[in-house]
Formats: sequence, C-alpha cells, structure tokens
Amino acid sequence: MQIKILKHPDIFLRQSTEEVKFPLSEENNIILDNMIKVMYQANGIGLAANQIGYSRRMFVMDTSNERDDPQVFINPIVKSKNNIKRTDIEGCLSCPGEDVKVSRSVSINLEWKCRHGKDQHKTFYYLPCRVMQHEMDHLNGKLIVD
Ligand SMILES: [Zn+2]
Repeated sequence: MQIKILKHPDIFLRQSTEEVKFPLSEENNIILDNMIKVMYQANGIGLAANQIGYSRRMFVMDTSNERDDPQVFINPIVKSKNNIKRTDIEGCLSCPGEDVKVSRSVSINLEWKCRHGKDQHKTFYYLPCRVMQHEMDHLNGKLIVD
C-alpha cells in the first residue's frame, strides 16, 4: 500500500480531528502501524493521523537517536503548559521546504491513551515537548506556516 503524506495547502489538514474510541478498532491499529512506517520512511520524528488522511486524534513520535522507539499517543490532551517559551526552527513533512521559527512552551504536561486504552500522563521537555506541541497543532488543523 502506498501512503501519501498530505501537503499544505490541502484543506484536509485544516480540519479538526475526531476522538478515538476504545477498544481500538482493527482499522485504527493498522492506521497507527502505517503512521509509524511513514514517519520512518520520511525521516520524520513525528506524524499526526490527519497528515495521511485520517481524521483521528492520534499521533506518533520517535525522538530517539536510534530511531527504534516509536511512541503512540491517542486522544492527547495538554493539561498544562509552561509559560516560559523558546523559539526554534521547525520543519514539517506536510510543509516541505518551509523551515519556520516557532515559539513553544519549554514543558508540557500531557494526558493520553495508549493502544490498550490505558490512561497515560507525563511531563515532557526539550525535543519531545516541541514535537508534541507541533503534532497537537496538526490535530487542531494548525500548521507551522500559520
Ligand atoms: Zn508537521
């Protein structure tokens, strides 16, 4: 199966995504596997479901150097954000060639569900924290070019 990453200005990227139900459907499991595959193929460190055409509140991320630690985030909610922000350059698989300076909170507290429907809760810093805020923007129809 050939999976395409949707590119700006595709209007699908602008629509808000829908909450995922549990237990996870077979289809959603396949979508998650495909998201991980596409993320690695494209040399990305994060990918949201709507970037490959599925309106679901799910994203995947791997910020490890070894590229062997794919993490899955379903129905993520930002519980709190640090007021201190840092600006850094970000790229996006949906906005090729556009490297943009984006201001992000230096830490966020995120709540989400794993594939098994269990509640997860953690505070993130540094690169994972930035990637997450980027992916959360995707799920809300927002892009770095905004
Ligand atoms: Zn992106």
